[in-house]
Amino acid sequence: MSHSSPLWQALPRAKIDWNGDTPISKDFDDIYFNPGQGLAESRHVYLLGNDILARWRQSTRERFVIAELGFGSGLNFCATVQAWLAAPEPKPKLHFVSVEGFPMSTADLERALSHWPELSDIKRGLLAQYPDPIPGTHRLRFYDDDITLDLWWGDVIWATAQWAEQDLQVNAWYLDGFAPSKNSSMWSDQVLDNIAHCSPSGCTASTFSVAGKVKTSLLERGFSIHKKPGFGRKREQLFAVKQSDTKPFSINSTPWHKSAAKSTIPKHVAVIGAGLAGSFAAYALAKRGIKVSVIDPNGVATQASGNAQGIIYCRIPKRHAPLGDFGVLAFRYATQLYQDLLTQNVLREGTDASLCGMLHTFQMGTASELELNINQLPNLAQIVSDDEANELSGLSISAPMLYYPRSGWISPKALCKALLSHPHITLVTDTFERLTPSDSGQELRCSSQTLLADCVVVTAGTATKNLIPNTLLPTKAIRGQTTQIPAISAIQAALCHEGYIAPAVDGQHCIGATFDLDDCDTSPRPSSDQENLAKLDTFLSIKESRVLGHRVSFRCTTPDYLPIVGQAPDNKALQERYQALQFDGKRIISQACPMQTGVFMLTGLGSRGLTYGPLAGEFLASLINQEPLPVAGELIKALSPARFAIRQLKRRSSAKSRSDWYEAATAPPSLRRPRSASPARSSKPVCRCFRSAWSSARRRGRTRGMGTWN
Ligand code: SAM
Repeated sequence: MSHSSPLWQALPRAKIDWNGDTPISKDFDDIYFNPGQGLAESRHVYLLGNDILARWRQSTRERFVIAELGFGSGLNFCATVQAWLAAPEPKPKLHFVSVEGFPMSTADLERALSHWPELSDIKRGLLAQYPDPIPGTHRLRFYDDDITLDLWWGDVIWATAQWAEQDLQVNAWYLDGFAPSKNSSMWSDQVLDNIAHCSPSGCTASTFSVAGKVKTSLLERGFSIHKKPGFGRKREQLFAVKQSDTKPFSINSTPWHKSAAKSTIPKHVAVIGAGLAGSFAAYALAKRGIKVSVIDPNGVATQASGNAQGIIYCRIPKRHAPLGDFGVLAFRYATQLYQDLLTQNVLREGTDASLCGMLHTFQMGTASELELNINQLPNLAQIVSDDEANELSGLSISAPMLYYPRSGWISPKALCKALLSHPHITLVTDTFERLTPSDSGQELRCSSQTLLADCVVVTAGTATKNLIPNTLLPTKAIRGQTTQIPAISAIQAALCHEGYIAPAVDGQHCIGATFDLDDCDTSPRPSSDQENLAKLDTFLSIKESRVLGHRVSFRCTTPDYLPIVGQAPDNKALQERYQALQFDGKRIISQACPMQTGVFMLTGLGSRGLTYGPLAGEFLASLINQEPLPVAGELIKALSPARFAIRQLKRRSSAKSRSDWYEAATAPPSLRRPRSASPARSSKPVCRCFRSAWSSARRRGRTRGMGTWN
């Protein structure tokens, strides 16, 4: 995070005037839809305008992608869902992608949609998941995942650039960003370039606007233009069809996070590892109808994911940076999934999990900054006084706390079991030994059998780097010990301090966890129990000495604390393709990355498996199934397994730009300077990297909570 990166804050809410129940934007001085006729208008301009119903009838695709500029009240989305529900089978799944820079409040959205009782069920479903204005991408799922809504909360230029970057393939556009005369940003050349980039041949666009600029801009970008009768008193509206696959520009950065070869969509995936990472990956794939074999010699959640309780942890970022941005978006997605699993009784309230809220300590000096960050995000976090904290927790806390009302605790093992009980998933209790690519996919040699799968996802924690040769994965195992203590009956919310505690299950709390660097002791130690008990005493003045049990496991951690999610690079070929980056780290090499065909990974969840896992699994499954992706390009890079190799190449370039690396590499041995501790030259780059991340986190006082297990 650099001090020049923008502050992390909620997006501004839409400012609304009302004409009856019709919203009018104060910011843009324009109507969201025609008073009293919004639904009919939406059907006419966008559904009929794009000939959506006929195209669903004729479609042989698995999915139909609609992209919208301006989510507003969600009326276009609701009208489309209503039409989809009424459309006869067979029909493609609906993937609706929409950008909004000024999200309406829940109350305004509810009011704007209240005019149409026929939409009330759809509206209720939308409101149940409608996200706070947290900047970034929010994936919402409806009707057993037949309908997906990706809300890109942010500016239209940013969002459409992200869509272009991920090569989103759109079938129909709803261009609904107010009139060009009132809001030129929605119709800027950059936005229209991005639209054209995401429009394959046959893609359509419709808009109420017939402004000359809109027509010429679309014509210039390879669309043919047709006029159709407009809605109500409007004589005409515009309908455009993209005539070819041409893209107006090439992306101006090295696509090292993308695969150079297009793979096929798998029917059967093998997932190695049945912990949280494997369970989330398997579940997200199985929900897409893909058959999944999960291979683990020890059964479900026996390693780091086997603790009795974990907290759904979140940290409010100060400024935009991948770790904080991903953390908050993943937290929202995770808590939504857990709420759904509890509602469906897949998880049992109080036994397997409880979203009872979580209280977190914070540094008092940062309160005003924090207030600014979480302003307008009451469902994410609120600062509560010590009295309120006491009421929420049932304990005696002597300081204001940060309260996350949608968080809570989960039994990771129960969660893994619940996710792996999906009918498309089979658990194979066997030891995976070797992977051999074959003509028909991946051959997985296990101790007592050989399995064939179309592709493989390795989720084996720190063992992942040994199971996928030819990758550079600087992961590290960090010891953590949890301690079981008798129930303190008063606790009603999860609490995170230097350690954590949650409401008791079966008369016991699981408290923890230690954070023991460079420690590979697998046996529980009394000193680790004492450490956990001492932290509890310091924070809550609870003097407990009875230890009912304990457990040691090892977190798989990365130097940047972000998980590793994506396709495995072919490291040797990557080094060759991108070798120029070691001389000039800023150089743009237009070729995508050579990847290992059909080999993916999800690991490095560290202490945040419960928070990061759901979105990481969803992203990976979307990537494998070649769907629109639920995260922005900069986060895809930040999660990419190739990032470590690329950073290593670039580090050489920055060392060289200080004439350091170059001199050392080229001077005759007698003239070489003694080796310094530059990471590029370190014989142990992994540990050094990790150590420097840890020590800089320590300097910034950010290691608190790193010892939280989840
Ligand atoms: N489709 C909406 C519906 O069904 O209610 C109506 C959309 S309204 C006509 C236009 C929307 O574009 C507004 O919600 C506005 O906040 C949004 N908007 C305007 N400028 C924007 C920008 N630069 N980036 C993102 N969204 C923007």
